Formats: sequence, C-alpha cells, structure tokens
Amino acid sequence: MASAIHPEPGLYVTATPIGNLADMTYRAVEILKKADLILCEDTRQTAKLMSAYGIDTPRTPYHEHNAAKVRPGILKKLQDGAVIALVSDAGTPLISDPGYKLVREARDEGIAVFPVPGANAGIAALSASGAPSDRFLFAGFLPVKPGARAKALSEMTAVDATLVFYETAPRLAGALQAMAEAFGERRAVVARELTKLHEEFREGTLPDLAAAYAEAPAKGEIVILVFPPEAQEAGEGDIDAFLADALATMSVKEAAAAAADALSVPRKAAYARALALKDAK
Ligand code: SAM
Repeated sequence: MASAIHPEPGLYVTATPIGNLADMTYRAVEILKKADLILCEDTRQTAKLMSAYGIDTPRTPYHEHNAAKVRPGILKKLQDGAVIALVSDAGTPLISDPGYKLVREARDEGIAVFPVPGANAGIAALSASGAPSDRFLFAGFLPVKPGARAKALSEMTAVDATLVFYETAPRLAGALQAMAEAFGERRAVVARELTKLHEEFREGTLPDLAAAYAEAPAKGEIVILVFPPEAQEAGEGDIDAFLADALATMSVKEAAAAAADALSVPRKAAYARALALKDAK
C-alpha cells in the first residue's frame, strides 16, 4: 500500500464525493495535494472540490473526447516517476466514468496503480436501500434505444442477484416500464439524490414505480435497484394476507388460483392454506 504522506510514484485512482462534499476521505485530500498532476473529467467541476479542500495541484482534462490523444503523454510522465491522480466528476473513476484504458495500459507498462477508495453511487444506494446485498450485478447505464434496452434487460432476467442500474431523470419512467416488462412484478428501489438535500429511497413493484414516475417525473441523479428473482418468493405471511383479502370476495378455489398467480406459489399449497383460513373463520 502506498503511504498518503509520501506517495510513491504511480497512478492514484481517487474517489470523490457524489454530492456531499464532506464525503471526501483524508487520504484522497492528501493524495490530491501531493500529486504532481490531477487528471479531471471536467476541470471546472474538480475546481469546486479543490477550492473546498485548499488543493492547488495542477489539473488537466482527461475525458472520453481527449483520452486517446493525451494518454501516451500521461503514461510517459508516469514512467518518469510522476505521482498522478485520476478523478471523475463524482464518485469512483472507471465506474461508468473514464479511466479504464489508462489503468489497463499503465498496468501493461508495469506502472504502479493505487486505488484511493471512497464514494460510489451504486454501493451507497445498495447499502441503505434494503434490497438484498449479498450478491449484486452492477449493470451501469442501460442502452438508450428501446430495442437495445429491452434486449439488455432480457439477458438479465435469470441473474440471481440484485441488479444495480444508473439512470437519468428524464429516462427513469421509461426504464422502469421496460424493467416491468422484462422482470414483471419484482420489487425495486429508486434511490435518488444520494447524500444530497433531497435524498430519497422509494420502494415498490416495478409496475407501480413505473406508473408513479410516469405521473410525477423525478429530478436529480438516480440509481435503480431491482430485487433478485428469489427475493420475490412470498412468505407465509404474504400468502395469508393475500388469501384473507381474496376470500372476502372469492371462493376458496378462485382465491387459491389468484394467490398462486400473483405470488408465484404452488397452486396446491395455496389451496390448502385458503381452505385452512376459511375453516378457521
Ligand atoms: N463514478 C460514479 C460513481 O462512482 O458512482 C458514477 C458516475 S455516472 C457518470 C453518473 C450516474 O451515477 C448518475 O447518472 C446516477 O445514475 C449515479 N449517481 C451519481 N451520483 C448520484 C447521487 N448522488 N444519487 C444517485 N445517483 C447518483
């Protein structure tokens, strides 16, 4: 591990806050202060962070439009022993942000690459959402075109993990609708404006969330978490609650069929439970 006090030469992949400026780590501040150069996705955006932390290290842009052109020069500086930090506008570089080719080529050339970990919107969302967190697939941004988006989602239907997507506010309702078409009634969480003033977590089924955001569009930055297929398995309490409602207006057979369809439970088991509830009355 490289010390923050006297950084070894190399490339430091440095996370910055995703909203709340106080989410900067001590080590990230040290590295940015002591680096010879900071590579920024947008130098104006990084200027705000630097002024908040009294950092006056030289900055230069590194983004998708100039990366191929400037990368050889950066690699040369690194070969010559420079300490260079890579930051993006928010969160962890390379995670739906520039930097992959630089890290890859630096490693290919035997240059030391150090992570300086910190904020990440997907992990922040997952950690506080209540969605199953033991296994997850970071899916990043979906394709924009509806056909490509539907295809991408159809390839994830069997993934036995929470799915983590990045999305923009204007595309939120459409994305949720496409997810409802691909994943049905699965539960999901829309995590919005994390670490900011209007932070919000909203949980519901995909069709309900799609309808809600179609009616009242959201603003801000968004992570969508879709629960894994097995997390949908209804527990006894869910089945009983559904049957109790259904039995108020339906026969035992109809209520059991409705429960089996809605909760994806075996018809026979739903029928036995419906009978027991009816008898208990
Ligand atoms: N590298 C960043 C990270 O580590 O999370 C992600 C950069 S990506 C270009 C931007 C997307 O991240 C946004 O469209 C949104 O989906 C998500 N995002 C970033 N900040 C967020 C926040 N404060 N709340 C919710 N989502 C956020």
